[in-house]
Amino acid sequence: MRLNRLEIAGFKSFPDRSELTFDHGVTAIVGPNGCGKSNVVDALTWVLGEQSAKSLRGDRMEDVIFGGSDARKPTAAAEVRLRLSGVAARGPSDGGGQARMAVPVALDTDGGLHGGAALAVEEEDVPLIVRDVELMRRLYRSGESEYLIDGENCRLRDVQDLLMDSGLGVKAYAVIEQGKIGQILSARPTDRRQLIEEAAGVTKYKSRRRAAELKLEAAQQNLTRVDDIVYEVEKQRGALKRQAAKARRYKRLREQLRQWEKVQFARRYRLLNEAIDAARARLTDARTRESAADTALAALETTLERLRLELTEADAATTAARE
Ligand code: ATP
Repeated sequence: MRLNRLEIAGFKSFPDRSELTFDHGVTAIVGPNGCGKSNVVDALTWVLGEQSAKSLRGDRMEDVIFGGSDARKPTAAAEVRLRLSGVAARGPSDGGGQARMAVPVALDTDGGLHGGAALAVEEEDVPLIVRDVELMRRLYRSGESEYLIDGENCRLRDVQDLLMDSGLGVKAYAVIEQGKIGQILSARPTDRRQLIEEAAGVTKYKSRRRAAELKLEAAQQNLTRVDDIVYEVEKQRGALKRQAAKARRYKRLREQLRQWEKVQFARRYRLLNEAIDAARARLTDARTRESAADTALAALETTLERLRLELTEADAATTAARE
């Protein structure tokens, strides 16, 4: 992996957009004291994700935004772009919408930055694509800040992942600032060990181990929770089993009840039909008898009429005889 280009705008002593191109070989920036050479290194570490204002020689992060001079007004934002080539990128990330950057496969020992992470390529089963990557960081006076990888917004985490895999972190040995060599020589063995581990590419494995341990811890907690849930569910299972048996018995009995109800309805239907037939027969019989009675009644009325007529005639004959 190589640094190709650094673009600085509104950052510290760079109010205008300035571009630095790093060719093959050694690039030296020469200038009088206080002209802004260290600000270039600050821009580099800042775009790589530096979070400490102190490390950037300021009190607050806003101090990196160009604060104005006699001739110029302060700028509203600081922006640094860094173009890297030969960066191995892994497939899409699991969040943040960015392609996750990974380990460089082609390390440039001649002036390039040592990643020391080729092992990781073999470890992970995802194919790597070696390509150019552009990192960008922007900070507004409002405090709002942005990170971009290849022009797409991403999280600081995505940038850190990319750099951790490449061995080019802000705390890495890759950037040795003014006075750093002296610091390294006089550092405590533990601090020096940290630097050597960083150089050996151990840090990222340590960090991965820590992440894995945290995941393991979380998984352990989940397991405990699952155990609790299993215990609770086990308790409920007995009650549910009894309820299920009851439900099955209820269903069976309900089926039986329906069968018996069908039998009963059929029987009632048959009995009612028989009762209707009997009633109909009685009705027909009554109607026949009624008609016979009507005939007999008509005959009796005819006889009565005839007798009345005879009586009247007899009365008339009697009266005539008396006279
Ligand atoms: P040295 O030789 O001491 O290392 P240098 O050439 O590396 O110096 P720097 O320390 O990079 O210089 O730059 C310091 C200059 O940057 C100072 O002039 C300072 O005023 C200017 N500067 C720093 N921060 C800002 C800012 N936010 N706005 C404007 N100018 C700034």
